[in-house]
Amino acid sequence: MGLIVQKFGGTSVRDRDCLFRVARIVADTRNAGNDVVVVVSAQGDTTDDLLVKAAEITTDPSHREMDMLLATGEQISIALLAMALQEIGVPSVSLTGWQAGFATDRTYMSARIKRLNTERLESELARNRVVVVAGFQGLNKSEDITTLGRGGSDTSAVALAAALHADRCQLFTDVEGVYTADPRKIPKATKLKEITFDEMLELASLGAQVLNNRSVELAKKYGVELEVISSLNPVPGTIVKEETKVEGMLIKGVAKDENVAVISILEVPDVPGMSFKVFSLLAQKKINVDIILQSSGRDGKKDLIFTVPKTEAENAKRILEDNKTRFNGGEVLINKNCAKVSIVGAGMQSHSGVASTMFEALFGQNINIHMISTSEIKISVIIDAVDADKAVAAIHDAFIQ
Ligand code: ADP
Ligand code: ASP
Ligand code: MG
Repeated sequence: MGLIVQKFGGTSVRDRDCLFRVARIVADTRNAGNDVVVVVSAQGDTTDDLLVKAAEITTDPSHREMDMLLATGEQISIALLAMALQEIGVPSVSLTGWQAGFATDRTYMSARIKRLNTERLESELARNRVVVVAGFQGLNKSEDITTLGRGGSDTSAVALAAALHADRCQLFTDVEGVYTADPRKIPKATKLKEITFDEMLELASLGAQVLNNRSVELAKKYGVELEVISSLNPVPGTIVKEETKVEGMLIKGVAKDENVAVISILEVPDVPGMSFKVFSLLAQKKINVDIILQSSGRDGKKDLIFTVPKTEAENAKRILEDNKTRFNGGEVLINKNCAKVSIVGAGMQSHSGVASTMFEALFGQNINIHMISTSEIKISVIIDAVDADKAVAAIHDAFIQ
């Protein structure tokens, strides 16, 4: 007898048949003697459809109203799944994020969980019910609905598992686990038995959609072992945990992120404080800067080149242009036709030649590298977006047999 948190993503609860398939998985877990807390996402493409609806009204929606809108998707799923469970004889109750006790900060559309008050949840479990919780949503101090950012239901599930000291946290999705690359794009990708939190955090942050990066961060912080598993095929998935057995794999995966734009500020003065002046402006507006390059000075000038999320690029450009006098900068250029391709693996710490193998694979496809960034367990390159899929395939071939 234990407590198990099971999260089901959008495809897994897409329609009636899927909902009953999920209900049976939950029923089996309960019949095996466990308490079950279920977290669900919005059905199928519901969240994307809601974004389209908002875009039909305005190009600059209030983030508060966006959260009011987006949170409705998950509310549909919880009610339908609770009904499906009741239909097959499993006592269950649905709870919105706020009923389940998710208190967040005030950042609409990418709120962070501050506290989780599990009183209601525990009282429902004590009544022997399966509790079906809406993922992705919470309530801020002003009692406004907030959402946790795309893919945020993963984070809701991990937070619940941590707060309730669950014995297992299973994330059911539409693939059989974490693969060496997106299995829908790279048919040769192989499923990983295990991956460390650190490697998974890098993969998720670098574009592998299978897990939300904040969920992995939280899992690492609270030591919640995760199981990524298929809701369609009952086969073993991938375990995400602190340490894994040495598998002899140099790299664990290749990821692609197309939400990348490169901004160049040409000819800023080559004097102390320039980087501070530029990047503090962006930090004040909460724009995330990723890779930064600085050209060497010539004639008292240098260029600053860096990446931001494509979705923030126009905003960043406007802020920089409006404040040009602060850093005496020349032209601000923006390139949105680029992508970031990365390899991740703790194995690269103890092996030489990993970067050169990656660069050779790109050279073999005649792909030009615009920027490079490395850390202990990852190497990323910025290339033209049109080359991204070809690059992932070539790099995957070079490393994974
Ligand atoms: P869910 O709705 O269940 O949360 P997501 O669509 O968010 O599912 O994530 C699952 C998808 O992630 C898969 O369908 C797959 O295409 C994609 N994906 C990207 N990279 C990977 C990877 N390395 N391993 C597995 N899936 C990946
Ligand atoms: N429904 C939300 C999204 O599509 C949250 C999630 O699926 O995790 O991003
Ligand atoms: Mg997801």
